[in-house]
Amino acid sequence: MNCKKAKRFISLCLDSELAEKDREELSEHIRSCPECRGEMEFMSQVLRELPAPQELASSPYFFSKVKAGISGGRRPQFFLFPFRFKPALFSAGLLFIIIATSLFAGIFLGSNYLTQAGNSEQYASEEAGALFSLGVFENSPDGSLGNFHSELMGGG
Ligand SMILES: [Zn+2]
Repeated sequence: MNCKKAKRFISLCLDSELAEKDREELSEHIRSCPECRGEMEFMSQVLRELPAPQELASSPYFFSKVKAGISGGRRPQFFLFPFRFKPALFSAGLLFIIIATSLFAGIFLGSNYLTQAGNSEQYASEEAGALFSLGVFENSPDGSLGNFHSELMGGG
């Protein structure tokens, strides 16, 4: 027996698929060949340290656990939660911005109208105009925040 054949026999032997006659031939070669003896010892050690496939498959509740992990309620909920939550948060944020902008516009327009009608709080009007920088909004390009603000206020 040559080493090539011996190494093929080694793996067959460790898989318990080697005939008795071939096993004896292999033993004979291994006794006389240090290289194949080392290979046999190494392969045996690797197989001892690996858990046998049958042990993994027959582990109690193994498939039950796998099935529970696939179809169980916990995982889908965990993954769906952010997708349900984010639109709600976005809507709430958008609503808050619209309300805040409306309040801001309403307060400013109201104070401006009252100032013009009463004609007695000129200083307050100028201060408000400087404070809110309305001029910045009036000359805004299309699609900008200023343009959006002007539309909200009913202008163009
Ligand atoms: Zn050999």
